[in-house]
Amino acid sequence: MSKKLILVLNCGSSSLKFSILDPISKKIYIFGIVECLFLKKTKLKLNIFSKLYIKFLDDYTNHNDALDFVLNFLKEKYLKYFKRIHGIGHRVVHGGINITQSVVINDKIILEIEKSSVFAPLHNPANLIGIKLSYKFFPNLRKKNVAVFDTSFYSSLPKIAYLYAIPYKFYKKYKIKRYGAHGISHNYVMKQSSYILKKKKSSLNIISCHLGNGSSVTAIKNGKSIDTSMGLTPLEGLVMGTRSGDLDPAIIFFMHKKIGISLDKIEEILTKKSGFLGISEKSSDCRFLEKNFNKNKKEKLAIEIFCYRLAKYISSYSILMDNRLDAIIFTGGIGENSQLIRKIVISKLSLLGFYLDNNLNNTIKTTNNYFINKKNSRSILVIPTNEELFIALETYKLIKLIK
Ligand code: ADP
Repeated sequence: MSKKLILVLNCGSSSLKFSILDPISKKIYIFGIVECLFLKKTKLKLNIFSKLYIKFLDDYTNHNDALDFVLNFLKEKYLKYFKRIHGIGHRVVHGGINITQSVVINDKIILEIEKSSVFAPLHNPANLIGIKLSYKFFPNLRKKNVAVFDTSFYSSLPKIAYLYAIPYKFYKKYKIKRYGAHGISHNYVMKQSSYILKKKKSSLNIISCHLGNGSSVTAIKNGKSIDTSMGLTPLEGLVMGTRSGDLDPAIIFFMHKKIGISLDKIEEILTKKSGFLGISEKSSDCRFLEKNFNKNKKEKLAIEIFCYRLAKYISSYSILMDNRLDAIIFTGGIGENSQLIRKIVISKLSLLGFYLDNNLNNTIKTTNNYFINKKNSRSILVIPTNEELFIALETYKLIKLIK
C-alpha cells in the first residue's frame, strides 16, 4: 500500500465531488458528493470504506462553505488519511485556448483559468474555489496542486472541426470555436478500450458516447480526438436531460422577436427546460422516461429523439475514420445503464456493421465483460467511466516530477 494518497476535487455547477485514493493500487478510500448546492436541503453523501453517511448541510450552502465543511470534517474524523495526502488533483472544465494538457497549478495557470471563465461561467469559478481552499488546508502542498482540464483532450481537433462558419474575426478576436466537453471521461474510456481491445492507442479508431445528464459524442482517430458534439459550450450536440442540444439558431430570434421572450429567459429554456424534460414535459431523468416508455407517448418520443440524434452523430463520425472503425463505446449514467437506449441506437447502425447481442446487452452489469456486440459485428463496448481515477493518475504523474 502506498503511503501517498491523492485528493481529487471536482467542483461542478451544483455539486461538489471529492475522493481520496491511492494512485498506485487505484484503491478509493473515501469518496463523497455534496448535492443541491444553492438549494434547500444541501446534502452531503459520504462513502467511506463502502459505508454510506448522509448529512444535511445548511440550506443554500455554496461551494466555498460546502468544501470548507468537507475538508474540516475529513481532517477531524479521518486525520490518518488526510495526513497521507500528497497531492491534489482538480478537475477544471475549461482551459481556454492556451492550456492543452494537465499542469501543475501556479499563479499564471490560475489567471488562465479565471480568463477562461467566460466560456464556463458556472464551472471555472467553482474550480477556483477548490484550488483556493486546497491552498488553505494544505499549505505545504501548495506546489502539488494539479489542474486536469476537460478541454485539453480537444486540443487535437483540426481546424475544420473546431471552426464555426461565422465571420472569422469572431474566432480571431473573441476565440469563439468548438472547445468540447467531457474530455476527461472520453480520454479515460479511450485508454481503457485500448487495453480491452489489445490495440495501441496510436492506432485506435473509436466513437465514444458519454451519455449522462449532459451527453456528448467524440470521434477518436489514432488515439486523438478529431471531432466532438459539444461546442463553444456544453449546450450543442445531443439531446440532454434539460439541454436542447443542436437547433436552428433562428429559433432564438423567433422566440425573442416574435414571442417576446427575453434573452435571459431563452437561455434558461434552452439549458434548463429543454431536452428530456422539455419533450416529456415531466422529467429530465432517463430512468423515469424508460419506466414510462410503453405507457406514455411523450416519454417514448423523448427517448426516440435522443437515440435518433445519437445514431446520426455516430454515423456521421464513422466517415472520419478512413475505413477502420474499431468500436463504439458507451459510458456515463445512461450509457452504462440503459439497455433500452443502447438497443435503439444500435438497431439503427447495421449499415455500419454494428449488431447488438441482446443477451449481453441485458446482462453486462452483472458480468466482468465489456462487449455487447454479436460475433459478426464490429465491437460495441460498455465501459464505466472513472474521471476521478484519471485525475488522480495525471496528478501523481506530474507531482512525481517535482523535486
Ligand atoms: P452527470 O452527467 O450529472 O454526471 P450521470 O452520468 O450520473 O450524470 O447520468 C445521469 C443519467 O443517467 C440520468 O438521466 C439517469 O436517469 C441515468 N441513469 C442512471 N441509472 C440508470 C439506469 N439504470 N437506467 C437508465 N438510466 C439511468
